[in-house]
Amino acid sequence: MLTTFNNFTSEITFSIASEKDLIDAFRLRDQKKLLLPAGLMFPLRIRSYFTWSEPSGVYTYLVYKNPNWDLPRAVAFKRFDRTGESTGRLCGWCHAYGSSDEVGMLSVAMNSNTSATYILCQNLRCIEKIEEAAALSGKHPEKWIDQLYQRIGLFFEGILNYKQE
Ligand SMILES: [Zn+2]
Repeated sequence: MLTTFNNFTSEITFSIASEKDLIDAFRLRDQKKLLLPAGLMFPLRIRSYFTWSEPSGVYTYLVYKNPNWDLPRAVAFKRFDRTGESTGRLCGWCHAYGSSDEVGMLSVAMNSNTSATYILCQNLRCIEKIEEAAALSGKHPEKWIDQLYQRIGLFFEGILNYKQE
């Protein structure tokens, strides 16, 4: 009998050889907004995905690589609301529930006219939230991590396939 446990992808790990490769993973429009964290050591070894925010907190960056992609892809998110209403929200990627302090609106420039907005964990803590929730409930996190990878992969495909102006 098939159980879903047989279908898990293993944990995603990848590495980025140089600062140039890291920058090249971003779209040109994001490279203009890019502020790299200080003290990065290359090659950069990444488990699941790599994310950081610049000091003002306006931009959060995400670097990810699906196993079937040749190269990692990266994106700059802009924080969309700071003083928004404090109703609870569900993260679109890990389905964690939280106030606007924990789950926020982040926007991505699709082209020079259009942005798409996503409701996601602040600081993209999804993988930590999943591991915390799994530890609390005594369950294996693999299924949720697998879904998280799929959602992030689809998110990047959506950006890539967005019609350019
Ligand atoms: Zn999340």
